[in-house]
Amino acid sequence: MIERKVNFERLRGMRCGSCSYEWKTNDKWLDRFNQGEETCPSCGTDCQVEERPNFWAAQDDPSYDDTNVQATYWYHTSTHSSWPDPNFDPIARLSDETRQKYQHIGTDGRALERWAQRQTSKALHLGTYESAIGNMLRRMKDQDISEDQFYLYRVQLRPDAAIEPGVHKEPTNWVGDVQLVE
Ligand SMILES: [Zn+2]
Repeated sequence: MIERKVNFERLRGMRCGSCSYEWKTNDKWLDRFNQGEETCPSCGTDCQVEERPNFWAAQDDPSYDDTNVQATYWYHTSTHSSWPDPNFDPIARLSDETRQKYQHIGTDGRALERWAQRQTSKALHLGTYESAIGNMLRRMKDQDISEDQFYLYRVQLRPDAAIEPGVHKEPTNWVGDVQLVE
């Protein structure tokens, strides 16, 4: 198995959606960019438009080599102590208050059921060690769950796992989820 060398200083590949300029940058620059303090170094496009600069696969990064995906260790951080859990019940973790809120959504009284269905049909999100740690820190900051216990999982894909060739944009929604059917 391939275990990548951990490097939190590794630069991120970027590409401007407006002028197609490509460059590499670090977390500090990305923070300033997302605050509106930095723009595309070539054309000045900022973070507020659809053609904003975004992450771009660096072609020389070994993580993007399709033939190595099953042979590489991947990582996932979760607040679940037992993961993956075939008997996972998303409703069990909700407060009574949240459950009651769902009763007022829609007209058929089945909003909670549909939410639970979506939670158990989500695609699994794996990444590098650095991205798994980064994701955990982001959730602690943005989702107000800094008191929660996090668990770091190291994942090995089955040899028969299907791999879509090439590098694609992640089809995540605003909370970072992807439904398996997508
Ligand atoms: Zn540009």
